[in-house]
Amino acid sequence: MPELPEVETMVRGLRPHVVGKTLIATEVGDPKFAALRSALVLPAMVRSIERRGKYVLVHLRDQVLVLHPRMSGRLLWGRRKPAGRVRLSLWLAAGGVHFVDPRRLGTAEVVAQFDDGLGPEPLGDLDWLPEDLKKSRMPIKLWLMDQRKIAGIGNIYAAEILFRAGIAPQRPTDSLLPKETALLKRAIPAVLEEAIACCGTTLADGQYRGPQGEVGAFACELSVYGRAGEPCRRCGSPIERSVLGGRGTYACPQCQR
Ligand SMILES: [Zn+2]
Repeated sequence: MPELPEVETMVRGLRPHVVGKTLIATEVGDPKFAALRSALVLPAMVRSIERRGKYVLVHLRDQVLVLHPRMSGRLLWGRRKPAGRVRLSLWLAAGGVHFVDPRRLGTAEVVAQFDDGLGPEPLGDLDWLPEDLKKSRMPIKLWLMDQRKIAGIGNIYAAEILFRAGIAPQRPTDSLLPKETALLKRAIPAVLEEAIACCGTTLADGQYRGPQGEVGAFACELSVYGRAGEPCRRCGSPIERSVLGGRGTYACPQCQR
């Protein structure tokens, strides 16, 4: 968290404020970002801003500024610096992009070209999916969360996608039947698109916010994530929590096989 829908919401919200505008200065609020001041060649026009996996890429003239919100980072747009732990502000004439990160795990770096070994995007063509799933024996939930296999999905949306597809999180990927793979192929973009339409998920910790400070409404739509012991929205059985790969995993024991 934030995962693909939250990062996509950040990028869509920032785009009208930054594209075609000039980045004038950086203001560093955390020593770990001090190197950016010399690395970024400013002023520079923002050519585009895009999401790749869970990264935000700000394309400048000859450089790419790569922002990775990781656990608690968020990007806010504002004329003034917002309250809170602003680690980095990127100033344009009309205002700034403010990187707020309470847990300080987020990163920002300047590269000539972005290449982080990420797998394909889950909102694009997924025709490659059945073949790739056969090549692995990983539990399907861990496979979905492996950024080298498919980019952008984390713990929350992996759980929601598997509920939608009716597949138990522990199932080895090479055990999936063609009809299950077909359901998964439909569930991945469906869940992510619905979450983007809701501007992502703000959990009870309240940490995630969209670029204008908005709350991600997909929290109300969650079927299994964080609902241990509560009735399944489809069959009424209590949602079970287990641990898989060190992460809390939520599933319906009846609807997911
Ligand atoms: Zn159920």
